[in-house]
Amino acid sequence: MIAHPPKVVSDTRFMNAPDTPFAFDAAIAAAARQVEARVITWRRDFHQNPELGNREVRTARIVADHLRALGFDSVQEKVAHTGVVGVLKGGLPGPVVALRADMDALPVVEETDVAFKSTVKTEWNNMHCGVMHACGHDSHTAMLMGVAEILAGMRDRIPGTVKFLFQPAEETPPIGEDGGARMMVGEGCLKNPDVDAVFGLHVTSIFPTGMIGYRSGPLMASADDFRIFVRGTQTHAAMPWRGVDPIVVSSQIVLGLQTIVSRRMNVTKEPSVVTVGVFHGGVRHNIIPDEVKLEGTIRTFDEEQRNEIHEHVTRISELIAQSGGATAKVHIHRWYDVTVNHPGLTEWSVPTLSRIAGAANVRVIDKLCGAEDFSFFQKEVPGFFFFIGCTPADRDVSKAAPNHSPRFYVDEECMKLGVKSLAGLALDWLAANRG
Ligand SMILES: [Zn+2]
Ligand SMILES: [Zn+2]
Repeated sequence: MIAHPPKVVSDTRFMNAPDTPFAFDAAIAAAARQVEARVITWRRDFHQNPELGNREVRTARIVADHLRALGFDSVQEKVAHTGVVGVLKGGLPGPVVALRADMDALPVVEETDVAFKSTVKTEWNNMHCGVMHACGHDSHTAMLMGVAEILAGMRDRIPGTVKFLFQPAEETPPIGEDGGARMMVGEGCLKNPDVDAVFGLHVTSIFPTGMIGYRSGPLMASADDFRIFVRGTQTHAAMPWRGVDPIVVSSQIVLGLQTIVSRRMNVTKEPSVVTVGVFHGGVRHNIIPDEVKLEGTIRTFDEEQRNEIHEHVTRISELIAQSGGATAKVHIHRWYDVTVNHPGLTEWSVPTLSRIAGAANVRVIDKLCGAEDFSFFQKEVPGFFFFIGCTPADRDVSKAAPNHSPRFYVDEECMKLGVKSLAGLALDWLAANRG
């Protein structure tokens, strides 16, 4: 049971079991075996040449060239700066399904010892940094290129259209730039032809290779950050009564913010998190400073609770500051919405994934407090986002470096399952919904 289902277009159309559920399985499996070596080659190339958000120029060119070589009906480049949208029309009439892969890397200095390790350095937000595919988006892009090749090879038999969304800047664009899924949607990537359902996946080191994790309804959190500037009055630390101490006031604010989740949120509805990660103020032991800056993050699994928390953060900060004779200016930046899997589409997808991965390898997982801008596609059309494990089966997942770590490691063996899953979901969905 999902407490808060998203806006539902029509549940019933996702409940039709595919009329030919096994028709494509053998063909997909054979094609996935054939393309596997190339998927690995592409992935290693992207891994060694990672690019940050809105700078995925080389990656996007390789993707676009590949789709054109496969004879796609249209290949649109520079979508939301560096995105690529490819359209593959099947030989039979039917609806439109979209598959999404993100392409960007992270400002991280790689510490793995793979032969194709990244040594790339760049400038990012006015800082010199390393660049690494520490979230596995290199594998996502390579997998979706593999899916494109498989589906192009059987296009005559496809009842409908498959749209390929190669997305930039999932890890956020550089400061001052727009980007990512929200911008792609704004530029019409789900229109013309209009997309009826969207699928996407993410690799994760918390599961072993071969495992698929999913969840109906809210799966990943909304992510917003806040900055609070607490202004007091500077004075000598030996004579605090002559000023207003923003360090003491800010400490009270930090404690006040702890009461939002513990005292104000209905914890039986959804969990949430409010964390202060930065507390900056002062220059010397015997001076009370003028100002303290606090920074933090807010995570929720429900859009109403998200708005409520924003109000609480602002009110608590302002009124505690006021009570101490100081002022607080609160800035909250909304980043990503809650990633909500459409319940009907999720229920529909599980048998396909079970067939491909084996039922024992497909499991319901806990919510994740990380965020994903796949949520912006899901706000427009029913969407299903799932995880595939990428830690080698003989390693302990509890010790595996997490996504975003400089030692994050993707077992390339997992990519074949990802390719088969996305291809299988797209074809099953088209077959089941061709009307
Ligand atoms: Zn990431
Ligand atoms: Zn990611």
